[in-house]
Order: sequence, then structure tokens, then C-alpha cells
Amino acid sequence: MGGCPMINRRKFIKTGSIAAVATALSIDSLDAMANGALKQLTILHTNDVHSQIEPFPMNGSRNQGLGGVARRAALIKKIRSEQPNVLLLDAGDIFQGTPYFNLYGGELEIKLMSEMGYDAATMGNHDFDNGLEGFYKQLPHANFPILISNYDFSDTVMHKSTQSYKIFNKAGLKIGVFGIGIELKGLVGEKNYGNTIYQDPVSKANEVAGLLKKELHCDLIICLSHLGYKYSDNKVSDQTLAQNNDHIDLIIGGHTHTFLAKPQDVKNRAGRITTINQVGFAGINLGRIDYYFESYRGKKLLTSSPYMISDQLDS
Ligand SMILES: [Zn+2]
Repeated sequence: MGGCPMINRRKFIKTGSIAAVATALSIDSLDAMANGALKQLTILHTNDVHSQIEPFPMNGSRNQGLGGVARRAALIKKIRSEQPNVLLLDAGDIFQGTPYFNLYGGELEIKLMSEMGYDAATMGNHDFDNGLEGFYKQLPHANFPILISNYDFSDTVMHKSTQSYKIFNKAGLKIGVFGIGIELKGLVGEKNYGNTIYQDPVSKANEVAGLLKKELHCDLIICLSHLGYKYSDNKVSDQTLAQNNDHIDLIIGGHTHTFLAKPQDVKNRAGRITTINQVGFAGINLGRIDYYFESYRGKKLLTSSPYMISDQLDS
């Protein structure tokens, strides 16, 4: 089981984390890479970017100098040059927060996401801030799908403008991604969501994840959620969804602007692990999760390390 030992060996010494993962999966990392038994999928993600195109101004505030689309784009480009199997995802609230949104209605935000090569995004409550028409108007600028399973837009201008899920094929793996939104009533002005019908997020998520797993045979299922990380009352959150589902591997969350230094593993209804991650807001961070799949024994493992978007990346 040799392959090209020298090339692969060098690669391994440089990327120590893969060797550590192989050890954890109790497989020989050199053999695994050489014969293609170990596959890596890199998931990059943002949430609640809130129209933050430029870095925060240098005005003494806590976030001064952080964030900015130009730096995020450069980082994403660099990661893609190092890693062939990348998915770039966003968990909603693309809109609202800076004058760019007030002036241009979200056109710039969506165009820049298209240029960065986002693979999919879901909708947050603030994406309704210019009404359904306002969001609809920006869709021609999106070369990525808006995934949302539990908003029924049939009786609105958004009819057929979104998808429930999308399956991505990476490294011979099927990755099912779908979106779940927060209850709009009470959070968004009624005229801004019009005849949108909100469906129960947990039952809808189980329905879609079940379809992706059992009928469409996905190897990994990711939910882009704008429910929020957790609440002190019984409002449905990513915690609720994680505990009450059977098939979701990863929830990429938003809305509560929670920064998790590392993802949280939750035992789901089926006794397996659903992982939750969320990376703050305003594009200050880019989340990164790497999944490693061992094809023969069906094992998988993840590592993660979020990036901070700052001038430290410029050098
Ligand atoms: Zn939100």
C-alpha cells in the first residue's frame, strides 16, 4: 500500500492535524492518504454578517480594525488553493447594519458573496428588512442558492425563488445542506413577510434530514439555522433542534451572535452526535470545520479552528 510515499509523507509532516486525525481513527495516515481512504472536507462559514463590508473603523471600539470582506475573500481564496474540497456557507442576516444596506438594499452584500464563491446561504429575520420584494430584487445577483425549508413562500413574490435543500458532491461524498428559519411573527413587521407561512422548524428539519439521509443517501447532513444558539425560556433554538433530531451531523447557526471558540457536540434523539457551531457576527470571524472520512470503516471525525479576520492576515 505505497502510493507515492515521498510526496505524501511531506504533505503529512506539513499538515500535522491530518496525522492526528488518522491516529484517532486508528488508521495508518500515510496509507490512508496514499490509497484515498481518508477524505477531507473543509466547511467554511459565516453568520449575521449584517452588511459589514469594510473592517470596523479604528475608533477605539472593541471590534476596531476587525472584519472586512476583502480580507475574508483573500483568506477563502488561500484556503481553496490548499484544499480541494471546500464548502462556503452562511446562516443568514446578510442584510442590515451599515449604510451600504440603507443605500443599496443589499445588492453589494449579495454580489460580494457571489464573488467569494458562497455555495449556499439561508435567510435571517433581517433579510426581510426591505420586505419580500426587497430580498427578491437582489436574487439575480446571487449565484448561490437560498436554502430555506420551513418558510412556505407559495403565496408570495418569493415563490420558487428558494430551495429546501441542495446536495453537493465533494470527493465522492454527498453533502446534503438545508436551511431553517426563525419564527417571523413578532420579530419582523407583518407587512415585510406578507403571506409567508412559517412551519415548525424541528418537524420540518427532521422531515428534510430524513429525506436527505434515507432516500438521497447523503454522507453528511448540514443544517443552516437562523434559530439562535440557546435561550433561557423554551423558545426553539439550535440546542432544541440538536437534541430532537435523528440525522443532522452539523448545525451552522446564527441570530444570537454567539461566538463559539469550538463547536459543541450534542447527543441527538437517535443517540448520535449533532454538532453546533456559530461564529459571532459582522464577519469578524470565519468558521472552519474539517471533516475526515475513512471510507472503508465509515468512520468520520472533525477538527475545527475559527479564523479572526484582522490585519494579521495581511502579512
Ligand atoms: Zn437574526
